[in-house]
Amino acid sequence: MSKIDSKIPQGPLAEKWSNYKAHQKLVNPANKRRLDIIVVGTGLAGGSAAASLGELGFNVLNFCIQDSPRRAHSIAAQGGINASKNYQNDGDSVYRLFYDTIKGGDYRAREANVHRLAEVSGSIIDQCVAQGVPFAREYGGLLDNRSFGGAQVSRTFYAKGQTGQQLLLGAYSALSRQVGKGTVKLYTRYEMLDVVIIDGRARGIIARNLVTGKIERFAAHAVVIATGGYGNAFFLSTNAMGSNASAAIQAYKKGAYFANPCYAQIHPTCIPVHGESQSKLTLMSESLRNDGRIWVPKKKEDAEAIRAGKLKPTQIKEDDRDYYLERRYPAFGNLVPRDVASRAAKERCDAGYGVGSTGLAVYLDFSAAIERLGQKTVEARYGNLFQMYDKIVDENPYETPMMIYPAIHYTMGGVWVDYELQTSIKGLFAIGEANFSDHGANRLGASALMQGLADGYFVLPYTIQNYLSDQITVPRYSTSLPEFDAAEKAIKERISKLMSIKGKRSVDSLHKELGLIMWDFVGMGRNKAGLETAIEKIKAVKKEFWSNVRIPGAGDDLNTELEKALRVADFIEIGYLMATDALHREESCGGHFREEYQTEDGEALRQDDKFSYVGCWKYNGEESEPELLKEDLNYEFIKVQQRNYKA
Ligand SMILES: Cc1cc2nc3c(=O)[nH]c(=O)nc-3n(C[C@H](O)[C@H](O)[C@H](O)COP(=O)(O)OP(=O)(O)OC[C@H]3O[C@@H](n4cnc5c(N)ncnc54)[C@H](O)[C@@H]3O)c2cc1C
Repeated sequence: MSKIDSKIPQGPLAEKWSNYKAHQKLVNPANKRRLDIIVVGTGLAGGSAAASLGELGFNVLNFCIQDSPRRAHSIAAQGGINASKNYQNDGDSVYRLFYDTIKGGDYRAREANVHRLAEVSGSIIDQCVAQGVPFAREYGGLLDNRSFGGAQVSRTFYAKGQTGQQLLLGAYSALSRQVGKGTVKLYTRYEMLDVVIIDGRARGIIARNLVTGKIERFAAHAVVIATGGYGNAFFLSTNAMGSNASAAIQAYKKGAYFANPCYAQIHPTCIPVHGESQSKLTLMSESLRNDGRIWVPKKKEDAEAIRAGKLKPTQIKEDDRDYYLERRYPAFGNLVPRDVASRAAKERCDAGYGVGSTGLAVYLDFSAAIERLGQKTVEARYGNLFQMYDKIVDENPYETPMMIYPAIHYTMGGVWVDYELQTSIKGLFAIGEANFSDHGANRLGASALMQGLADGYFVLPYTIQNYLSDQITVPRYSTSLPEFDAAEKAIKERISKLMSIKGKRSVDSLHKELGLIMWDFVGMGRNKAGLETAIEKIKAVKKEFWSNVRIPGAGDDLNTELEKALRVADFIEIGYLMATDALHREESCGGHFREEYQTEDGEALRQDDKFSYVGCWKYNGEESEPELLKEDLNYEFIKVQQRNYKA
């Protein structure tokens, strides 16, 4: 069995990262110019990494599928970014952010990584402010903070409900500066289709020019994947339509381990599904839970009357409302972590108290906040989110409570990386949502932006040098090498195969079928029989896809259906991995809720003696099952306990 070496430095927790930086190998400025790095992705992780590596003097090639780096999915992030600055003087510290994150992840993340994340969180805010990111400020001029789930302090920095957009504009400015200086070359509308391995090391990629359809080769001394998460395996999700799992699956098939694929996050506050033709779900930011109160009717007959359109929520008296999160979790109330809030909403709806025409919705009510703070203040905090809700649902949320329901939102699993963010393939790194590193089984709100920017601005620029320092004598690789020929040939064959099927099913119909299987059997509640069913059904979808998909147009031209088909083929692979991982993990933890493993009051029940490890899946070829390798999680510095948000 391969040995999993996470390369966690020795020493006290709070000194590991400083010691690492003090002793790691560096590349001198003259040598940096001779080293090429491919960064795939221009979201907050990829954009910040490419800009930082360019600033250091490396030669960076930066790819994205959109027509501008600014259109990466990160632009959608709404609510905020965490950092333990303690501006509120409410008891925050590096340790508390570390502790909340480990606990929030249900004790399934590495201590050393999470502590490093908390340590660098403050620098992220400083860097972004220096770039001009317009974070909200309070009266005294300091940056304002709000609260997110799983924390009892206010540590979330925000720019209205557009934090991702503003942070991405900051990263984009830094990136543009490097493009101007010539250290970063941008390749927009290019899609990576494979990673090229030479003598066991990542040495380049094959990418398709999405405008011309031409397959092109790119060589480098190292490759960084920053391609985001795989939530769109569920078809309906809050992710951008273009978010995909393909680069991660390509890396997996070339030998990179895929870690914890079953850890997917269902977000409690999304606009409920409202029709069969929908292709996207809209998030209502978690920040709304700062001031919004979640409830359903106490009486079933009221819920029934609401569903039948005979009663309005505003007609339900205060005493007849069940603020179930405040009731069940008095200490954290509406700000329990996402997995807890999602399951509680499902429990109420399954029990018959759901509202909306489908009964699959609960209320998020601002009437008390408006009374307390005034509409103007609420509008200043969340105005764009309220407007978005009004436009989609055609109801004024200042007057009537919003309706929300959980939806797939984020994936904690991803490409396995060690402490240096290097995958199990030498020279191949993964950052941001594409890796699995810091969130364990459940990510706390506002921590994805923190992790993506930590990886890109403050971690990878150091750790990649430890790898590159012994590559300085390696000359630039030629893209005419046989390994590039073979990778390009395989891609061309895959595209020809897809184009030649000429079946009857559209790509979307197959994607939708996969998504329904995922939601029904690998979603909020999972069980053995359901997961076994999912595995069989996913196999059937795969067979149907590869024998009956229809892709119009040509393979060597602009062809958006072909782009989708290539991505859906990989979503099928990730769906299979997710179900397989979920089946093997016979415990509940964070976003992975196995119905067989719950406490008497319906909370997730971990099995620490059996499952306190990172599940790493190794690809063993098309005809074989993936192999499970385990990276043990050793908690040296905190006491592992049952998560409790009640007291
Ligand atoms: C609606 C919404 C709101 C959110 N709000 C918050 C929030 O308030 N706070 C928070 O912390 N987190 C939030 N998140 C999560 C957070 O936005 C994401 O986790 C984070 O932005 C991911 O950043 P990333 O750089 O890893 O990937 P992405 O932003 O997804 O970027 C991926 C990049 O990879 C490129 N790419 C992908 N595949 C390929 C390929 N094969 N070839 C070439 N390029 C490729 C894309 O073009 C893109 O540039 C939110 C998520 C959603 C969906």
